Amino acid sequence: MSATIIDGKAIAAELRARIAKQVETLKRDQGITPGLAVVLVGEDPASQIYVRSKGKQTVEAGMQSFEHKLDPDASEEDLLALIRRLNDDPAVHGILVQLPLPNHLDEDLVINTIAPEKDVDGFHISNVGLLGTGQKSMVPCTPLGCLMMLRAHHGSLSGMDAVVIGRSNIVGKPMAQLLLGDSCTVTIAHSRTKDLADVVRRADIVVAAVGRPQMVPGDWIKPGATVIDVGINRIVDDTGTTRLVGDCDFDTCAAIAGAITPVPGGVGPMTIACLLANTLTACCRANGFPEPE
Ligand code: NDP
Repeated sequence: MSATIIDGKAIAAELRARIAKQVETLKRDQGITPGLAVVLVGEDPASQIYVRSKGKQTVEAGMQSFEHKLDPDASEEDLLALIRRLNDDPAVHGILVQLPLPNHLDEDLVINTIAPEKDVDGFHISNVGLLGTGQKSMVPCTPLGCLMMLRAHHGSLSGMDAVVIGRSNIVGKPMAQLLLGDSCTVTIAHSRTKDLADVVRRADIVVAAVGRPQMVPGDWIKPGATVIDVGINRIVDDTGTTRLVGDCDFDTCAAIAGAITPVPGGVGPMTIACLLANTLTACCRANGFPEPE
């Protein structure tokens, strides 16, 4: 293995420590505690784990955590009423509705009911538009975490060729916008892309957000390129053990890349740290305080 491992866990821990200090200052000097409300509908086990972890880290950063759990068959009306109450609650600076929602709920309607300034996931159509036009917005946490790791490793990304594999609204598209904002030349690849291997081979930066275990092999990677692996896939390996792997084949990619994020321990921890960062930012904006760095 020759690649530098980009340690998302360590970068996220530093970010969380910085946030905790800023929260402490806010509380001491202004008497204000940033608050994050997380709404979970149903009992999806993975979602329950994410929500618990978000709540725990929110409290560890000194913020207030409000958890709202609704039954799997909760009505859209009830969910929208809850969101409106949270929109009006001055103790709540950030609102996150855990996705995916049960099928009978209209995800777009639910997300677009969150007040844009409290939309710490950055999925509200206003925030999508603001990001797309390079204006101040709430930036989706996973791509923001990827960008932070890239900046931490490279400093400037200007002029680099970036390929984002995946065009989802929550990862691929906002990732591409952020890389464009940092002056990369960006290609977005997806399931219909022709000659994906050749496209990926041109990239100085590869961001894989596909959801297919170990899909990207090392021989797709340009020597020295940086690989950001967003994928979280559960597989049963040869020994019968269940483990988490990314969308990139770590061993073969690490043998040729200049730098790579591991799974777990890369993008995942950064995503939650960025959620806390967005909550702090939302709190500062709501109160007219300077934005945290
Ligand atoms: P989606 O399923 O919404 O999107 C997947 C994208 O991959 C689609 O654009 C799809 O193309 C594309 N794709 C599928 N198959 C191929 C293929 N063979 N070749 C090229 N492109 C392909 O997934 P998400 O964006 O929500 O998530 C992607 C991964 O990231 C998942 O593993 C998810 O678990 C993980 N994730 C991790 C997070 C973290 O915190 N670390 C947070 C969010 C997601 P098309 O549009 O043409 O169908």
